[in-house]
Amino acid sequence: MGAMGNSISTWIQSLELWPLIIALIPNLMFRKFGAQPGVKRSASLIHAIAIFFLTIVVAGLVVKQGWQDWVFFVAVGFTALLLFLIRKKAFPYQRTCPQCEAKLDFQTIYFMDDHLCRECRKEKMAQEEAQELLDEESTPEEDDSSQE
Ligand SMILES: [Zn+2]
Repeated sequence: MGAMGNSISTWIQSLELWPLIIALIPNLMFRKFGAQPGVKRSASLIHAIAIFFLTIVVAGLVVKQGWQDWVFFVAVGFTALLLFLIRKKAFPYQRTCPQCEAKLDFQTIYFMDDHLCRECRKEKMAQEEAQELLDEESTPEEDDSSQE
């Protein structure tokens, strides 16, 4: 047997729930940005599950069973492969705005499902508001028509 030991797994296991808690912080911020539960929120949940699996389940098992660190690294490899296979779900990120190709800021890349830059989102929201106003005007209000 190699003399690799399991010092890395032991260290990761000693961090306990902290890697998971840190991974879950951005997930909690989705509500702050008013984002609907969507593609990117699911993606950040997938990341949190992967981190839970590696830092709690696998590192815990390696230490408890007295296995060597390579078991942990094999699990990291499998997890990375799995994330790669579901990459459309796990990494639904775009760096540029699909409408004007502007570079996106971190907040948009990480949180917003529509990938729109601030300008294009403003425009889109203004259009939606205008459309709502038009819809309201086109539905006749009964009170007004009966009075005239
Ligand atoms: Zn744009």
